[in-house]
Amino acid sequence: MTRLVVIGGSDAGVEAALAARRVDAHLEIEILLEDRYLNYSICGLPYLVSGEVPGWQRLAHRSSDEIESLGIQVRREHRVTDVDLDSRALEVDSPDGRASIPFDRLVFATGAGPSLPAAIPKDDPATRPIHTIDDGIAMRRYVESRRPHDAAVIGSGYIGVEMADALVRQGVDVTMFGRAPTVLPTFSADSGALVEAELRENGVAVMTGEAVGAVRRNGTRLSITSSTVRNLDVDLAVIATGVRPTAELARQAGLEIGSTGAVVVDREMRTNVSGIFAAGDCVETYHAILERPAYLPLGTTAHKQGRIAGTNAAGGAARFAGSVGTQVVKVFDLAAGRTGLSEAEALAAGFPAATVRVVAPDHKPYYPGSRDLEIAIVGDIETGRFLGAEIVGDWRAGVAKRIDLFAVAAQHGWATRELLDADLSYTPPLGSPWDPVQVAADAWVRSTRPVTV
Ligand SMILES: Cc1cc2nc3c(=O)[nH]c(=O)nc-3n(C[C@H](O)[C@H](O)[C@H](O)COP(=O)(O)OP(=O)(O)OC[C@H]3O[C@@H](n4cnc5c(N)ncnc54)[C@H](O)[C@@H]3O)c2cc1C
Repeated sequence: MTRLVVIGGSDAGVEAALAARRVDAHLEIEILLEDRYLNYSICGLPYLVSGEVPGWQRLAHRSSDEIESLGIQVRREHRVTDVDLDSRALEVDSPDGRASIPFDRLVFATGAGPSLPAAIPKDDPATRPIHTIDDGIAMRRYVESRRPHDAAVIGSGYIGVEMADALVRQGVDVTMFGRAPTVLPTFSADSGALVEAELRENGVAVMTGEAVGAVRRNGTRLSITSSTVRNLDVDLAVIATGVRPTAELARQAGLEIGSTGAVVVDREMRTNVSGIFAAGDCVETYHAILERPAYLPLGTTAHKQGRIAGTNAAGGAARFAGSVGTQVVKVFDLAAGRTGLSEAEALAAGFPAATVRVVAPDHKPYYPGSRDLEIAIVGDIETGRFLGAEIVGDWRAGVAKRIDLFAVAAQHGWATRELLDADLSYTPPLGSPWDPVQVAADAWVRSTRPVTV
């Protein structure tokens, strides 16, 4: 019987195993994971820390029983330490000792790990990244039992801003440090400024353009030093300075590694070694607009790629359509979404790009509760092609649904003009006859008048 082994029991790994089972009912499938948490949502960790999700068990995407009842064998606390391609066997460390596990086909779904700034105290419960379920449980316990008065959040990306929000909800005074000149560096500076204003309005002290040099223990407190700040003392430091692919095992096994440090795969999620696939945060992702690999570690992508890797590993046929970098984040009362390319990214990629920004109400203002959405559209002024968008607005104002519509346009290479033809829903409490997405597209077309539209 053919034996498929999946290394990793999170988003990509479990999707791969489930997809493989759908293709081949008789395949022997085994998932090995180094921790104890099969198929939990690390995306939910900020809400565990904030107390909005009352226990880590609630973060399960699905139960272990559901997975194991499909005849998928799961080995928790099994860390793969070596891959021998000649004998097709994995070296594994587990509480039972070392073992060798054979495979015919293999899926790497080893994810990513936090990219830590250099000087951080090791094994100090008051300073840790927020990446694994264990990180989230430990941070929740720390917040509940020690009731920290103040905290530094180091990193101003989407996880940093989610953590600032979570800690404020727990009554903690938060100072956020970000190396970039604005918060949410994957967004434009204009959108970042709106999010920064929301953080400040909710009491977060935002320090942009500040690289943290060191976090040191100072008696009962931690002392933070950054570019211009000397020794800010806090009770807790959360490290959210980004991730890097967990690809060392793959590198040692002889898999090709790209310039991003992630595993190189084709769009069927095949690596350069026959019968070995990879998916999720450990791989380079095909970017559908740039038409080249990029590193876009997101849960949505990990799920899709895992499914494709598992389908193909089991003998089926599936192909990754590509990502366009769609993401959305909620910060206090705001949501910020982006998809496609920012103007800076588009120009760097050689597109003659221009941005138009509009403000439009989320629904007819005569119906109570209407809220303004700030929308930026980036398009190619020669061809009229839609390249990307950002939306910032109240989190109850349909930011995610609208950024998702833009995402479809970006992924399918629409002209910005085509958004005006989309047959969208409308009722006054929820929208307008011309949806804000279309108001923005119309403004872009009128102001840029691309020759081919
Ligand atoms: C706080 C936080 C919030 C996030 N929020 C969002 C969000 O809102 N939206 C979004 O799209 N994405 C979000 N993400 C990103 C998303 O969670 C990841 O992209 C996704 O989890 C990646 O899944 P993965 O399966 O590739 O890797 P991971 O989830 O990192 O899992 C890796 C797996 O590999 C196992 N493993 C690694 N090495 C070995 C080894 N040597 N032997 C055995 N097992 C091994 C681990 O035990 C684990 O099971 C968030 C991430 C974090 C940390």
